[in-house]
Amino acid sequence: MKLFLSGNEAIAHAAYAAGCSVAAAYPGTPSTEILENVAKYKGAIDCEWSVNEKVAMEIGAGASIAGARALVCMKHVGLNVAMDPLMTFTFEGPNGGLVVVSADDPGMHSSQNEQDNRVLAKFARAVVLEPSDSQEAYDMARAAWDISERTGSIVFLRMTTRTSHSSSLVEIGDAPDALAPGGAVRPEPPVRPYEKNPKKYVSVPANARQMRFAAESRQDVLRRESEESPFNFAIPGSRSDIGFVSSAAAFNYVREAFPEFPVFKVGFSCPLPEAKVRAFASTVGRLFVVEELDPVLHDALKLAGIPVCEYKTELHMMELNVDRLRALRSELLGDGVASAETEAGKVGRGSAPAAPALPSRPPTLCAGCGHRGVFYTLAKLKATVTGDIGCYTLGVAPPLSSMDTTICMGASIGAAFGMRKAGFKGRLAAVIGDSTFFHSGMTGLLDVVYNKGAVTVVVLDNRITGMTGHQQNPGSGKTLLGEPTCQTSIADVARALGVRRVREVDVYNLSQVESALKEELDCGEPSVIVAYGPCVIAAKKAVGAIPHAVDPAKCKACGACFKLGCPAIVRGKEVAPGRFVSKIEPQPCIGCDVCAQVCPFKAISSTRS
Ligand code: SF4
Ligand code: SF4
Repeated sequence: MKLFLSGNEAIAHAAYAAGCSVAAAYPGTPSTEILENVAKYKGAIDCEWSVNEKVAMEIGAGASIAGARALVCMKHVGLNVAMDPLMTFTFEGPNGGLVVVSADDPGMHSSQNEQDNRVLAKFARAVVLEPSDSQEAYDMARAAWDISERTGSIVFLRMTTRTSHSSSLVEIGDAPDALAPGGAVRPEPPVRPYEKNPKKYVSVPANARQMRFAAESRQDVLRRESEESPFNFAIPGSRSDIGFVSSAAAFNYVREAFPEFPVFKVGFSCPLPEAKVRAFASTVGRLFVVEELDPVLHDALKLAGIPVCEYKTELHMMELNVDRLRALRSELLGDGVASAETEAGKVGRGSAPAAPALPSRPPTLCAGCGHRGVFYTLAKLKATVTGDIGCYTLGVAPPLSSMDTTICMGASIGAAFGMRKAGFKGRLAAVIGDSTFFHSGMTGLLDVVYNKGAVTVVVLDNRITGMTGHQQNPGSGKTLLGEPTCQTSIADVARALGVRRVREVDVYNLSQVESALKEELDCGEPSVIVAYGPCVIAAKKAVGAIPHAVDPAKCKACGACFKLGCPAIVRGKEVAPGRFVSKIEPQPCIGCDVCAQVCPFKAISSTRS
C-alpha cells in the first residue's frame, strides 16, 4: 500500500507499525507534526507534549527502562536542553528501544541558530540514521527500534527541514496501519520485561565506570551493524573519475547535479561503514564528500585514512540546494552549469533555478496580535527588553524595535538578571511567552527571587504555543489529545516562587498595560506582569472579527498608528510629501482597538455600528 506522506508523517506511521507505545516531545519547527500525527493513533500510543525536551527525554528513558518502545522528538536546539538525561542514559542503555528524532534546520528557516546534531548524537555514542526522503524516513524509523534493542543503543533519526516537510509516496507494504485506508490494527506490541538492575540503571560512580566500558564495547557492535546496514550502499555511475559520499537531503542534490557519477549513499552514518566506503573509494578517481552542515562524514573518512579531496565551494553553512551543487560542479568540472545566483556568490535557499527577485516580505506579528501593544508601550517607556523564543521575538522588528536580546528558550529572565548584576541602570524588562515560561522560564524567575534580584518579568500569556501552530501547553487546559486537564496559572506559579508583586493585565487595554509597566519597572524588587490576551489567530477562528476603520475626515496623517506596525494599517492618500492618511484593510483587521487607543485625533473606530 502506498501513502502520500511528509517525512514527519512517515515517522508517525512507522512508529505505529514498529510497536512504539510511548511518545513525548516539545513542539519545535520542523519536528512538530511528528507528535501531532502520532496522536492520531490515540489509544495505541501514549503521547504527550512535555513541558520541555529534557522532560521528554526522561519520559522516553523511563518508558524504555520499563520495557516499552519509546519515541522522543524535538527540533535541533531542543536537543541542547535534553543533553543531560541523554548523556547518562546513553551509557545506561535502553531496554525497550529508544528512538530520538532531532529535526535540524539548515538555513535557520525558523530557528535561532544552525547546528548539526549528528555531532551531538556522535558525542552521545548513539546510532545516527539519515533519511533522504519520506520513504527512507519510514523505512529507517521502522528499523530503528529493532536496531536500538539489538545493539543496546539509542538511535537517532536525523531529519532536516527539507526531509521533515517534503511529501512523497511511501510504500508501507502490508504493515499494520490503523490510519491507512483499509489498514490493519497492529497486534499488542510486546513489552520487554523490566528487571531491577541498579548496576545498569543507577549511575553512581562505581556503576557509571562499568557503564563507560560497556558503552565503548557497544561501538564494535554498532560498526558491524553499520557495515551490514541496507541503508549504506553504492550507486554506480557512467563515469568513475569522480565519486561522491553523501547523505540525507544532500544526496538528492548530488544525484541531480552529478547524474553521471557514482555515489556512496550513507544512511546509517554513525558509526561510519568504513570498510564499505573504503571499497567504494578504491573504484573512483577522486572522492568528494557532500553533506549538509558540518563535515561529519568528511572528518570520519579522513580519520579512517580514506583519501578525500577538498573543494573550495562553500557547502558547510546554510541549507543546500541543487544550485549550490551546480556551483561545485562548475568548480570540479568547469562545465559552466552553475546558476546566476550561485555564480554571484550568494547562498541560494531553494532548489528552483534563480527567479526574478520578489519584494521582500519580512515576518511580522499578526494584525491584532496582543503582543503588539505591550511592545509599543515598552518602546514608549524606553525600556530595555531581554527577549525570548516565540512569535513575540518579532517585537525586535521595526517599527516596534522593542527587543534588545534573545538567546534561547527561557533565557530572558537570567539575561535580565545578569545585566542588573553588571550594573545596568535604567528600565529593564524580561519578556517571555507562556509556553516558554513553563519550558524553562520558571527556574530563572526562582533564581531572581532567591538571589534578591530586581527583575520585572512580562509574561505574554496567550494560553497556547503560538509560533509552532497552536499546540497545547500547561496553561491551555488541554492535553495533546485535546482532553481537559489542569490549567496552570502563571500568576499563581510566580507567587509560589516567592514573587510578591504579581499583576495581571489585558493586553488590549493600553492604559492598563502602561500604568502596570510604569509601576513595576521602577519597583526595585522581583515583579511579574502577566499580560493576557488570546492568540489572535485562534480567537479569530473561534469568534470571527469586526474590523475597525479610519475616518478620513478626522485623520491628520500624524503617523502615530503606523508606529504599531499592524499589517492591517496601510497608507492612504498622500497629503504632503511623505505624509499619508491611514487606511485599515478590513480583511486582516480583527478590531482589537489598539490603534484607536493610539490615535490622538479619535479618527479610528469600530465598524460595528
Ligand atoms: S483594530 Fe487596528 S491595530 Fe487592531 S487589528 Fe485592526 S488595524 Fe490592527
Ligand atoms: S493616528 Fe489617527 S490621525 Fe494619525 S495617521 Fe493614524 S488614523 Fe490618522
